[in-house]
Amino acid sequence: MPERIYNFSPGPATLPYSVLQEAAVDIVNFKDSGMGLIELSHRSKLFMDVADETEALLRELLNIPSNYKLLFLQGGASSQFFMVPMNLLQHDQKATYLNTGVWAKKAIQEAQLFGKVEVAYSSEDITYRRVPKDDEYTVSSDSQYLHFVSNNTIYGTQYPDMPDKTVMLVADMSSDILSRPFDVSKFGIVYAGAQKNMGPAGVTIVIIREDLLDKVGDRVPTMLKYKTHAEKDSMFNTPPCFALYCVGRVLNWLKNFGGVAAIEKINREKAAVLYEAIDSMEMYRGHAEKESRSLMNVTFNLPTPELEARFIREAAAVGLDGLKGHRSVGGCRASIYNAFPREGVEKLVSFMADFAQQNQ
Ligand code: PMP
Repeated sequence: MPERIYNFSPGPATLPYSVLQEAAVDIVNFKDSGMGLIELSHRSKLFMDVADETEALLRELLNIPSNYKLLFLQGGASSQFFMVPMNLLQHDQKATYLNTGVWAKKAIQEAQLFGKVEVAYSSEDITYRRVPKDDEYTVSSDSQYLHFVSNNTIYGTQYPDMPDKTVMLVADMSSDILSRPFDVSKFGIVYAGAQKNMGPAGVTIVIIREDLLDKVGDRVPTMLKYKTHAEKDSMFNTPPCFALYCVGRVLNWLKNFGGVAAIEKINREKAAVLYEAIDSMEMYRGHAEKESRSLMNVTFNLPTPELEARFIREAAAVGLDGLKGHRSVGGCRASIYNAFPREGVEKLVSFMADFAQQNQ
C-alpha cells in the first residue's frame, strides 16, 4: 500500500482503500473479460449485473420498501433541487422548506420557480449554527411536502433525529446517507450525491415512492421526469457506469463491515473524540450548537484567522489534509465520513493538543 495521508475533504472524500484497489484491477480487466470496466456497454450482461448488485445492496443496507424506486441519476444533488419541485409541485401548490444552510437555500430558490414555498424555519441570521427541533416550526396543512437537508456539510450541523411531522418528508441526505439508519417509509423522496459516503462524484441516488411518479405535469422534459428513469431502471440513457460500479464496491465494503447500524456506532465514537478535544481546549471553539452537531462534518474555529491558517498549514505538513473550512464561512472543518479511519481522528486530536500548547 502506498503511503496514505488522512484526507478530511468534505467531498469527494476518502474511500476505503480496498475499494480503490478493486477498481484499479477492474478498470484494466473486468472479471477476466478482456475488457476494462469503463469500456463495457451499459447494456452488457457484465455491466447489468454490476447495476443490479448495486441496487440490491442499497436496498438491503437502507431497508428500502418495495413500493420505492431507486434511481441512479446524473447532474449532482444540485439538480435535485429543481427536479423535486418540478416533479411534485404544481404552480398553485405549496411546499415547506427549512433553511439550514447554503444547500437548503439553493433548494428553496429552485422550488420558488415551480410553486409556492413556505420557509418554516431559518437559521441564516446565526450563520446556520443550528437545525430546528420539531416544535420550533409548523407546516401548513396544505403543504405537499417538507424539504430539509439532513446534514449541513458546510456548517457541521445535523438533525439528531429526522423531523417528525404529519407531512411527507423529502430530504437531501448527500452528506450523511448510510451513516445511520432511518425509516425510508416516512419519505416521499430521499436524494444524495455519491461523493461523500457512497463513492466518487458523478452519480446521484434518488429513492422515490412509486405513487409520486405520476404527479409530474406534461411540460417537463423527458430526462427530468423521475418516471422516465424509473420505467427504464435508470437505463433510459447511459448511466454514469464507473461511479455506479464504485458505489457498489463501497456498499459491499459497508455490508462486510456490518451495515449501517454498525458504522453508526463507529461514527458516533469518532465524532465524540473530536468534539471532546474541541470542548476541552481553549484554543478551539465549535461552530455548531451542541444539540445540532454533525457526526460527519466537525466545524471549529481558532481565535484568529491567522492561527487558523497556520493550523491548517501545519496539519497538512504532517499528513492531515483538507481541514480548511468552506470558503463561505472560513475556519476549520474535519469531514469524517464512514470511510474515514478512526486513527486519523486520533492523530488530529493529538496534533490539536500539540498545536494548542505551542501557540499559547
Ligand atoms: N447538498 C449537500 C448537503 C451537499 O453537501 C452538496 C455538495 N457538497 C450538495 C447538495 C451539492 O451537491 P452536488 O455538487 O453533487 O450538486
